[in-house]
Amino acid sequence: MTTTVNDLTESRAAREFFKTFDSAPTWVASAPGRVNLIGEHTDYNDGFVLPMAIEHRTTIAASLTHDQIVTLHSLTTGDVATFEIDDELKPGQPEWSNYVRGVIAGFQKLKLPVKGFNAVIDSNVPLGSGLSSSAALEVATASLLEAMTGSSLGPVNKALLCQRAEHEFAGVPCGIMDQFISTMGEKDHLLLIDCRSRQGELVPFNDSTLEMLIINTNVRHSLADGEYGKRRAQCEAAAATLNVTALRDATLADLEAAKSKLDPLIYRRARHVIGENDRTLEAAHCLRAGQWERLGTLMYESHASLRDDYEVSCEELDLVVELASNIGLGGGVIGCRMTGGGFGGCAVALVRASEAQAIRKKIGEEYLAKTGKSATLFLSRPGSGAAIIENS
Ligand code: ADP
Ligand code: MG
Repeated sequence: MTTTVNDLTESRAAREFFKTFDSAPTWVASAPGRVNLIGEHTDYNDGFVLPMAIEHRTTIAASLTHDQIVTLHSLTTGDVATFEIDDELKPGQPEWSNYVRGVIAGFQKLKLPVKGFNAVIDSNVPLGSGLSSSAALEVATASLLEAMTGSSLGPVNKALLCQRAEHEFAGVPCGIMDQFISTMGEKDHLLLIDCRSRQGELVPFNDSTLEMLIINTNVRHSLADGEYGKRRAQCEAAAATLNVTALRDATLADLEAAKSKLDPLIYRRARHVIGENDRTLEAAHCLRAGQWERLGTLMYESHASLRDDYEVSCEELDLVVELASNIGLGGGVIGCRMTGGGFGGCAVALVRASEAQAIRKKIGEEYLAKTGKSATLFLSRPGSGAAIIENS
């Protein structure tokens, strides 16, 4: 997609760039955040995930300078970061600049040297809410650098480069989902990702009478990090007992056959992962076939499994799912579940667009009444993946 920055009257990043650096940016790149419809804690078991890009995006407006200095202005946080690009860029301060530094370092490794540039970053992806503002920043940066260096990495390599940036520069050992969907998402589609083969398959979401409602509980229980490591170890233990490479390779029948050899806790953890992989594949089928009610049932089953077998939910997420299911099909809620790693963060509901505003209001009010906390709720259809707009 090529257009001129003048077409971008909406682009606050481009306007602010002009104000800050006294010229129009050469490039404007953007990439979306994401929400995972189903397939939770399956990625590190070589399984399946089914995310969509949201309509909320991170945008970077940039131009080259004549030196090796990078200056980043984040309109989102009001912070400025400045650093010099040397031969082998390393992580540094401020912390948030590492998402950009890591991507630059990835280009350097590919012998695609990056020169100094000025950039203004804007985003309407909420930061730190589990909607992957980090991947949006990385993938927007990678799109920008492709244009700057006149290269095209290809979607898979681009996503993997961004994942490495998150691992090595931000210190977050994430899977491939966030960077894949931010790179490869398409409007009106979800992306079924096979985390073993690293292949994504676009799945159409054609019914324009439906929308996703994302409900951020605005809580984060501190358990999350330690418990994540424990779950991974428990899955590995289950796979070892079942004699498979990863839980992706086991069926529920295999699990039942081995039940007596498994610690009851490990058995429940494995039952979640194996069942969740089945549910995710079936959910993709439901999307293609327009079987919305069945899809809703799978979402509720996923939530129950994460709550009871995997034990990664929390009171607030359970409450949101209960409030949504109380509204039910009659009120326009088709399904709802927690999304993301758990212990707080967001839930996602599939809702009828015609009732969406009423549902949003009702869940928001009841959540506040029951918890004393405000949730943040917003609606999105599946949005498009990364894009670059050149001002040639
Ligand atoms: P999530 O990806 O769920 O939003 P993370 O903790 O992985 O949460 O990433 C959030 C971090 O990414 C922020 O704390 C900040 O360091 C960085 N970040 C993302 N977007 C921006 C932005 N627009 N401006 C500045 N920093 C950003
Ligand atoms: Mg993140």
